This record gives sequence, structure tokens and C-alpha cells, in this order.
Amino acid sequence: MADAPHTRGAHVHPVEGNRWLICLYGMHGDHAPDDTTGFKEFAARLRTPVVKELLDEHPLITGDIRHYPFPANRRYRYEDLDRLPTGLIVIGDAIASYNPVNGQGMSVAVLQALALHHVLATSDRTGMESQFFDDATEITDVAWDLTIGGDLEFPQTEGPRPRGTGVLNWYLNRLFRRTQTDRRLSEAAIQVFSLQQPPAKLFRPHIIWRVVGPSRLVTVPSAKGSSQGT
Ligand SMILES: Cc1cc2nc3c(=O)[nH]c(=O)nc-3n(C[C@H](O)[C@H](O)[C@H](O)COP(=O)(O)OP(=O)(O)OC[C@H]3O[C@@H](n4cnc5c(N)ncnc54)[C@H](O)[C@@H]3O)c2cc1C
Repeated sequence: MADAPHTRGAHVHPVEGNRWLICLYGMHGDHAPDDTTGFKEFAARLRTPVVKELLDEHPLITGDIRHYPFPANRRYRYEDLDRLPTGLIVIGDAIASYNPVNGQGMSVAVLQALALHHVLATSDRTGMESQFFDDATEITDVAWDLTIGGDLEFPQTEGPRPRGTGVLNWYLNRLFRRTQTDRRLSEAAIQVFSLQQPPAKLFRPHIIWRVVGPSRLVTVPSAKGSSQGT
């Protein structure tokens, strides 16, 4: 993952048909190219060799690399409005859209849809708009804080820094580095960032110890073999 001052990151996912989906990204102008030569060069300059190894060992099945520019995280605070039009609900990206590299927008939209279902099923619809926006805010806050917290680590990112941002980012960056060799940390991080578990899971004592305690580095992960944790 990109962490200041490193503006580059990558996601690699095994997908159907025994293929890999590779996503390269760069922040603050360090954009990943969408031609195959530039794509491979960008991958070779990541801090991990894993993506380059994959690209060296497997043929690209398409040269059609899709580029998705994302200008900024954006949030509208409908919950702060004094008056709301009766029967108007806003949901999903129309409330907040987040840097897609974190892969949270669909999860947030689904959780908000469940919240709307709950409001419709349990209220007589008087004031349901503000009840829904209050519930949606709690869901939005989690993804929003995780996303903007990471982005605010970069001095180039504009916006007020909530107190504790620096410490939190130090902790999360250390956690992410250790996920490469610690399966339990990796699972905890995926559960939180995919919104299956609340962020508090990353601050339970046994997780904190695995993050700040002595390194339990076992292997440097490579595309040829899986990483191991203890
Ligand atoms: C490159 C990329 C990768 C992503 N990866 C992930 C991921 O891995 N995991 C994840 O959870 N999220 C991911 N997201 C985010 C996710 O796609 C969005 O958060 C999610 O689709 C939002 O759902 P939505 O229904 O609010 O909006 P949308 O999916 O954008 O749906 C809005 C719909 O409204 C239609 N529409 C717009 N205007 C009108 C109009 N005037 N009249 C009629 N129809 C209209 C649009 O055509 C569209 O179909 C990713 C986003 C991008 C761009």
C-alpha cells in the first residue's frame, strides 16, 4: 500500500479462470501508466518484487489496461440538514465516495441499503429520512475515517488533520507491513477494511502486540510461494 512518502501501491487478486487481476495505483500525480511497457516498469519500481515477478512469469491476457482517475474523496453531510424533503433518501456514492483502492464503496452501499430496509420495516415513516441519515452516518464514518486517515498521511493532501492522525497512521503502516508475513494480522486487516468487522478489532491487545512487538518475520513473500506467520 502507498504510505508517505511512497506514493505507489498495488493490489493483486486471484480471480476465476486461474488468472490474476492486477491493480497499480499512484497518488499525488504519480499515476500508473496504462500502456503495457509503462505498466511493467511501474510495477518493477514498487517496494515489493511480488507484482513484477507475476508479470514476468505470466503473459498479460490483454493490453487493454483500464485507467481510472480519482480526483478526491467526497462526502455530503445530509445528516446535518435542519430540514429534509419528505420521502427523499440519498444512498451510496451519492452520500460519500472514497478512493476506490480501498474497495469499500459497495460494502458501504449495501450496509446502507440494509439500514434503509430496517428503517422502512420498523418505522411508520414519519421522520424516517433523518432516522435513515443518522444510521447511514455511522456506516459512512467507518469507511470515511479509514480512507481519509491514510490519505492525510501525505503532506500534499489538503484538509484538516484530526487529532491522533499521525499516531494512527504510524500504527496502521506498521500493521500493513507485518500483514505481509503475519497471516493473523492480514486476516484482521482484510476483515476491517472490507467492513466485516469494526476498526476496534485492529486495537485488541493481541493484535497490538503483533503490530508493535518484536518482528516475527519468517519469509519475504514472493509470487512463487505463500507467506507464513506464526
Ligand atoms: C475502479 C473502481 C473500483 C472499485 N472497487 C471497489 C471494490 O473493490 N469494492 C467496493 O466495495 N467498492 C469498489 N468501488 C466503489 C463502488 O463501485 C461504488 O462505491 C458503488 O458502485 C456505489 O454504488 P452506488 O449505487 O451508490 O452508485 P453507482 O454504482 O455509481 O450507481 C449509480 C447508478 O445510477 C445511474 N445514474 C446516474 N445518473 C442517472 C440519472 N440521471 N438517471 C438514471 N440513472 C442514473 C448510473 O448509471 C449508475 O448505474 C470501486 C469503484 C471504482 C470506480
